[in-house]
Amino acid sequence: MTYAQSVKDEILKTIKGLRPCCQKSFLLAVLGGASAFNLSGGQLCPTLATRDEKLALLTADIAQKQFNSTAQVVVEQKGKNQKYNVNFDGEIAKALGLVQTIDGVVQVSEQLPSLSKCCKVSFVKGLFCTFGSVTIPKPAQGSIANMTPSQSYHLEIALPKISWGDQTFEILSSIVDGFKVTQREESVLLYLKDAENIGNMLVAMGAVSGKLMLENVLVERSIRNNANRQANCISANIDKTVAAAEKQILAIQKLKKCGKLQRLSDELKEVAEARINNPEATLLELATSLNVTKNCVNKRLYKLIELSQKC
Ligand SMILES: [Zn+2]
Repeated sequence: MTYAQSVKDEILKTIKGLRPCCQKSFLLAVLGGASAFNLSGGQLCPTLATRDEKLALLTADIAQKQFNSTAQVVVEQKGKNQKYNVNFDGEIAKALGLVQTIDGVVQVSEQLPSLSKCCKVSFVKGLFCTFGSVTIPKPAQGSIANMTPSQSYHLEIALPKISWGDQTFEILSSIVDGFKVTQREESVLLYLKDAENIGNMLVAMGAVSGKLMLENVLVERSIRNNANRQANCISANIDKTVAAAEKQILAIQKLKKCGKLQRLSDELKEVAEARINNPEATLLELATSLNVTKNCVNKRLYKLIELSQKC
């Protein structure tokens, strides 16, 4: 199962426990967002086409319980997958405000019916479960089964009902920060790119496990980034130590060649010998082996380099 589907499943489980008005708003989003109707007996009857069995059955259940109307669920086999067509009656379209009668003719309404405050989130849940998707970067350990590989945080709702775009954007923005909107040919795309806002949106929609998975990825990535940063830092220090040691060894060899080394003080000869014998040792390691301070070793090595320049 994809991460997006696991989030949707979690959200769908919250719907039956909602108030009747909120369940109707969920159905309004699912049916109105697609705005697909069959003309039957002079009525416009909403239909839902989906691959999501749970969504199909839930909408039929809401029709039954909240509108006392039986929706017809038709299962179509498409290769390995099933497609569900759910056909509702025209009265539901009227009750939800999806259609209006103008001069005796039933027409599809372009306006989004006004929603009570409590219904806004369930409306958004309906949009997300029908037209939404979400991806987060895949964790290194594959702790989330069969997750779609992705490098970015992204949540979107591709809403086919373009005339609802502005109001939907306002509703989404009243729930979480950061929503952006762009027009596509056949839909309005409302999306989030920021992990924190996506997390808030998941929680607002009741997808708490989805939020936890997101947090796990955030934590894992931050640990990995820190480890990488530390490793880079250590190797940069090693490079510096090696470069410095090379310079010191060259200086000592030069002093030896021009015969100056033998005439130096015991302290300088001692440190020169220690460096030649331990080309990879750090200053601290040299200092410890000579029983002097690091600063002292540093000064003496510097002195050797200085003297070698006069050879
Ligand atoms: Zn409500």
